[in-house]
Parts: sequence; structure tokens; C-alpha cells
Amino acid sequence: MTSATLSIDLGALVRNWQALDAKSEGETGAVVKANGYGLGAPVVGRALARAGARSFFVATAEEGVTLRAAVGQGPEIYVFSGHMANDTKAVREAGLVPLLNSVDQMLRHVEALPGAPFGIQLDTGMNRLGMEPGEWSAVRDIAIAQRPQLIMSHLACADEPDHLMNAHQLAEFRAMTDGLDVPLSLAATGGTLLGPEYHFDMTRPGVGLYGGLPFVDAVPVVTLDLPVIQVRDVAKGETVGYGNAWTAPRDARIATVSGGYADGLIRAMGPKATLFAGDVPCPVVGRVSMDLITADVTEVERDPGYLQLMGRHQSVDSVAEAAGTIGYEILTSLGLRYQRSYVE
Ligand SMILES: *Cc1c(COP(=O)(O)O)cnc(C)c1O
Repeated sequence: MTSATLSIDLGALVRNWQALDAKSEGETGAVVKANGYGLGAPVVGRALARAGARSFFVATAEEGVTLRAAVGQGPEIYVFSGHMANDTKAVREAGLVPLLNSVDQMLRHVEALPGAPFGIQLDTGMNRLGMEPGEWSAVRDIAIAQRPQLIMSHLACADEPDHLMNAHQLAEFRAMTDGLDVPLSLAATGGTLLGPEYHFDMTRPGVGLYGGLPFVDAVPVVTLDLPVIQVRDVAKGETVGYGNAWTAPRDARIATVSGGYADGLIRAMGPKATLFAGDVPCPVVGRVSMDLITADVTEVERDPGYLQLMGRHQSVDSVAEAAGTIGYEILTSLGLRYQRSYVE
């Protein structure tokens, strides 16, 4: 077997959901967009539904259709992109709840599917999705008369607890929803950790469920083991890989593992990354190529069968740091060549 094994600990996933749920007064939803942050939305969704999650959030109606097939009729599935021009069939057949982002989307929804459930997304300053304050005040009474199931907004800077934007958006959200008797939601993972005033009726954690920052107390969910294809001796002064990017400073033993940038192991992490043989760190040497990575295993007693990129010794976020990005991008880049293996 040359393809790497991506092992996903569903018990850890559920513990992370429960830990975030314990922090919040209201309901705790689960964001499973982008195929459950790369880990497999159907399996992740089923595990969380079994653990008690009743509301899921996806980015697109297509993702909602896939998730519906996995979790069955019970849970609510909210769609962040709202009701787009070709979404009507999916929304109706899969029983999705679009989070309407504009007056245009609202008209489309009530015309195409009168009486069908919907939510509303408000823009409280991020300027990405949702109705602006002016637009909202113009349609607010009409919208409320149609009984939205949820009104939500999204924080731009929740991973920086001291950022003034947090309190600003909280105040804006309160002002825009003042006096309404509709369930409200403002917080993703970061907002959940900001404290109870950000929680309202529903929190919407994503990355924290999958073991990523800003949920520092998350238990790791992902283990990635890359099989070693070949190990060779390289004499002092010889080079390894494309562009002769690494020159052996001493006689070394170099392992070539299966996995590269085509699998989401971002090329830019190159020499800052480390693989592990058990507890022994093995620095990546030379360039990350499309399907292969080379690492210095000189310090490892016996030639290893595989090297670990993510797991006990290295989190999703430390890999992200080596690549100059965030854990979200590492997770959602995890390639389709990996065997996803789920442990309970
Ligand atoms: C992605 C997303 C979330 C989840 O965010 P995390 O930071 O992963 O917890 C919640 N709400 C919206 C609108 C999102 O786009």
C-alpha cells in the first residue's frame, strides 16, 4: 500500500463537540462544510448526530444534499450561501434551510418555495455575506412575518479575543435583532470561546471540532502516516531532490515517503516541516514534490516503515505554521488519495 493513511478519531471529534457544547448555554450546532473540513462530511455528520448534534451548517446546497443522505431526516441543515438561482430543487428535496443573504435571495425563496423554512444572515461588519443594516431595516418586518427559523451573523476577528471588532459586531448584532423573538446565532469556534454574551441561542463551531485552533483545549482528531517507499545512504556533499535544494552536511540516511503537494502537503512547508519516526524527529530535506517527500532519518535506529506528519507529536496547526498558513487550510487540503480510516 503506497497511499498514506489518514486516520480520523471520531471519539475525539465527539469529545471536542461535547467540550464546546458544555461551554455554551444554548444549542451547539456543527459546521461540516468543505466535506467536514476535509475529513468526510457523511461520517463526521453521522458521528455528531449520534452524539446529539441537531443542527448542521454547510456552505452550499450541494453539500446539504450529500449531508442529508448521510444523516437522514432528523437534523436541520442550514446553508450559508443561502438560496442561489439553481438551488430550489435541492433545498426542497433535501429539506435544507437556506440562510438568506439579501433581499434578492429572500424574494427568490418565498416565490419558489412559499412557506418553506429559512434563516437570515446579517452583515455586522465583516462585509462578506448577509444583509446590511439598511437593507435589513427595510425588509425586517416582512421577513419576520414569514417566521425565520434562525437569524445569524459571523465574527471577523473572533480568534483575537482582544480585538475591538468583536464587541463592535456584538453590539451591531444586538441592535439589528433587538426585540425579535427568533433564535439567534453569532459565534463560531472563536466566538464560543469569547464568552457567553456571544453565544445567543446557537453556537456554530467548525474547526474546533476537528482539533484546530483557536480551540487550544481541543483533542487531536487527525493522524497522518506516510509510508516509506525507499531509504538510501547519501554521502556528505551529495544533494537531494529538485533543484538540488538540500546538500548533505554529513553522511546521512534519507527516507522517501509517499505524499506530496498533490495530497495537500503544501509545498511551501518544505524544509520547515518535520516528520516523526515514533518519537524521533526527522527533518524534511529538499523540496516537497507532487507525490513524494524526503526526510533525514539518520537518527532513527531502524529504517522506519512510515513517518508521521500529524498526530501525537505534531498538530494540524504546527504543520500549518511550517507552511505559513492556518490549520483550516491544511485540513481542507487533505487529498483524496489518502485512505480515510475512521476510529471510534
Ligand atoms: C466556517 C464558518 C463557521 C465555522 O467557523 P470555525 O472558525 O471553523 O469554527 C461558522 N459560521 C460561518 C458563517 C462560517 O462560514
